[in-house]
Amino acid sequence: MGSKSFHPPVRTLMGPGPSDVNPRILEAMSRPTIGHLDPAFVAMMDEMKGLLQYAFQTKNALTMPVSAPGSAGMETCFVNLVEPGDKVVICRNGVFGMRMTENVERCGGVAVFVDDEWGQPVDPVKLEATLQANPDAKIVAFVHAETSTGAQSDAKTLVEIAHKHACLTIVDAVTSLGGTPLKVDEWGIDAIYSGTQKCLSCTPGLSPISFNEAALEKVKNRKTKVQSWFLDLNLVMGYWGSGAKRAYHHTAPINALYGLHEALVILEEEGLENSWARHARHHAALRAGFEAMGLQFIVDEAHRLPQLNSVTIPEGIDEASVRSRLLNEYNLEIGAGLGALAGKVWRVGLMGFAANQTNVLFCLQSLDAVLTDMGAAINSGAGVKAAQQAYSKS
Ligand SMILES: *Cc1c(COP(=O)(O)O)cnc(C)c1O
Repeated sequence: MGSKSFHPPVRTLMGPGPSDVNPRILEAMSRPTIGHLDPAFVAMMDEMKGLLQYAFQTKNALTMPVSAPGSAGMETCFVNLVEPGDKVVICRNGVFGMRMTENVERCGGVAVFVDDEWGQPVDPVKLEATLQANPDAKIVAFVHAETSTGAQSDAKTLVEIAHKHACLTIVDAVTSLGGTPLKVDEWGIDAIYSGTQKCLSCTPGLSPISFNEAALEKVKNRKTKVQSWFLDLNLVMGYWGSGAKRAYHHTAPINALYGLHEALVILEEEGLENSWARHARHHAALRAGFEAMGLQFIVDEAHRLPQLNSVTIPEGIDEASVRSRLLNEYNLEIGAGLGALAGKVWRVGLMGFAANQTNVLFCLQSLDAVLTDMGAAINSGAGVKAAQQAYSKS
């Protein structure tokens, strides 16, 4: 009784996702809901498929958004491609590789691991050795952009090695899509999933996926039913597939899809390469700022993601109180370390709409103010200056 409408505070989102949502997307989502079999809606979905193909750089006919967040895209790949008894090589170098293991085991698959330290990319040499030792492996799964650490793996090389050993590949591109080069067809990726709330800057809750012909062959020739009714692509394709009859499977999240459509239109307007370059440019400025302050990156430069910056915490500083002060006093959200990195790093996201100069300078200035006030050993004032210098050069 007496409850009122919820009005969230206005924050700047520079954590590991969700990222700041472009107001154009929120406006698109507030347009009138229509039926999910309405010809106007179906036409919008057809257009969205083309936009997603562009974002993924693929011609795969099965390219669509799963009606649930990135984790459901992950699950869609595993439940459709893993049959009981299948051996799956999982590359673990952060949180999301571990989550893949859960998926494989729940599908009755047998997981074999390639382990790398958190903050390192997946080591292709280890993958090669693991596949040689496991000639019966059927699938290789890895995370392209590990959001838990900020490390990027060499997807092209890992896919090449997997194919040499006749394995299909499942690639997590939740944080890479739109933020860093990703070429599904050129690299030969078989099944891929992403999310809307990272570098696409859309609201959370949808997961774009794409399957090539080889992956679809495996799905169509399964001996056992896909264990999830909702995520069974054999059924979903009846709605989404080419020439599909748009048979009712589930009610599409209509307004959420308006949002994704708008996000992809924005990406197309900017151009993929320009979006990748923008993420790199703002990362360079943020990096100059952090390093001038005295914070260090935990990922080697060669494998560092521009959209997810993991940096060390100054000696003697309680990282959680810094984050809560940033949130309460500056309405700025940055991320904490996860798993092995909990308490050791901050994760600062520069994703999609949030990757801009105002945010970079605001983040450096706010963090500088809080840390200086807490008596941290940093070079006060140096961060913003270094970032401005980086911008004047770029
Ligand atoms: C965020 C993320 C996910 C999970 O996506 P949700 O939308 O939170 O379910 C999976 N993998 C990676 C690499 C992510 O960053």
